[in-house]
Amino acid sequence: MAENYVSTTNACKMCTPMGAALVFKGIENAVPFLHGSQGCATYMRRYIISHYREPVDIASSALGEKSAVYGGGPNLKKGILNVMRKYDVSLVGVATTCLTETIGDDVGRYLNEFREEFSDLSLPELVHVSTPSYSGTHMEGWHAAVRSLADQVVKDKGRAHGGVNLLPGFLSPADYRFLKALGERACVRFTMLPDLSETMDGVIWDDYHSLPDGGTPVAEIRAMGGAAGTVEFGMSGGLPESAAGVLERKFGVPARRTAMPIGLRATDQFMDVLAEFASCDMPAKDAFDRGRLLDAMVDGHKYIFGKRAVVYGEEDFVVALCSFLGEIGVQPVLVATGAKSDRFKAAVTNALAEVCQTMPVIRDDADFKDIEDEAAELNPDLLVGHSKGYKLARAKNIPLIRVGFPIHDRFGGQRILHVGYEGALALYDRLVNAVLEKSQDECPVGYGYL
Ligand code: SF4
Repeated sequence: MAENYVSTTNACKMCTPMGAALVFKGIENAVPFLHGSQGCATYMRRYIISHYREPVDIASSALGEKSAVYGGGPNLKKGILNVMRKYDVSLVGVATTCLTETIGDDVGRYLNEFREEFSDLSLPELVHVSTPSYSGTHMEGWHAAVRSLADQVVKDKGRAHGGVNLLPGFLSPADYRFLKALGERACVRFTMLPDLSETMDGVIWDDYHSLPDGGTPVAEIRAMGGAAGTVEFGMSGGLPESAAGVLERKFGVPARRTAMPIGLRATDQFMDVLAEFASCDMPAKDAFDRGRLLDAMVDGHKYIFGKRAVVYGEEDFVVALCSFLGEIGVQPVLVATGAKSDRFKAAVTNALAEVCQTMPVIRDDADFKDIEDEAAELNPDLLVGHSKGYKLARAKNIPLIRVGFPIHDRFGGQRILHVGYEGALALYDRLVNAVLEKSQDECPVGYGYL
């Protein structure tokens, strides 16, 4: 009899408002605010801290039974006033939760009432985003929050300043640092939204700070309408209109979309886009890094070529990883994401079309039970993804190359570089060494020289 399997087992996705909270963590002096029960904020803080190992404040309207019946407006307003008292806050990012979406709270109306009721106070920017977790993933929450910032904070076109809006999607703080430095090398003034480079991987403090340093300044977000263009990585979670689309429609800022620059070809594409905005020649450092990456690919080819990989995680990140794996001769055999996405299959197929003769099994809306079932017949050599794949890696006795988020069972996940030629080289070294380590461990006599 066919197994009647309907529930999600070990989800390959995280809660939707968590993505929004992470975006708001990348705004200077901003506080993420969850409109819902306190447990949601506690869970997310715990989850985020385990990866980044930084203090993470997430406010909550702490709704109880009474609010669930009569609405959460009073708690929301009281909570924002508390945030204003406790922090020198420039922006409060309010994300809804399952509870407030279910009872149908109109957060936009509550915030308008708040602005009128407290018009005598110096108010921070108040941004709201709808993030029902029962119908999305953390990445849908992420993209919706970036879109809300572009829609609600950028009020006019303003002065043309010649900078470029960079919407990089969900990457590591090391990636954001890399992209900022690349912009400086290429003489492009980026407004990167969000920017978790310092807020989620900061320095040690002598004194307590109520909010971390860093993040995209609100003034820079307001000026995004005057940019020369917007560069957006990935598919924006399938939104009908992404943040770049909002800026193009409202203020005529040209939108350029490109894949996350992971691997050789995607980085080449991004560098070409960057060159259109650059006011100086492409930096020599990146040309050297590109050459080093190619040299390493030649050196390591004999170890890595033909290995079979299972790749899973966030859709844009997975598409970019597949593109890279294909170009180094690794055959993705199963590619999975937890998101329901009608664009995912085409995006993976497109990323692999030039570099793989055989297309992998491609699954959206997948959980780890689906991934384990599919992987059973595919004989993978490697798993590439976040820490939640460890159970499968252990069961199959194959290496897990940890990338992305969350990395809860290793140290330094926030400092993994994925993007650019430099990031591709670092990933390449890790992949080759994982293969070598396994064959060395399994060799009956051992060896100390390749
Ligand atoms: S899934 Fe819903 S109830 Fe659970 S933490 Fe996320 S928002 Fe809260």
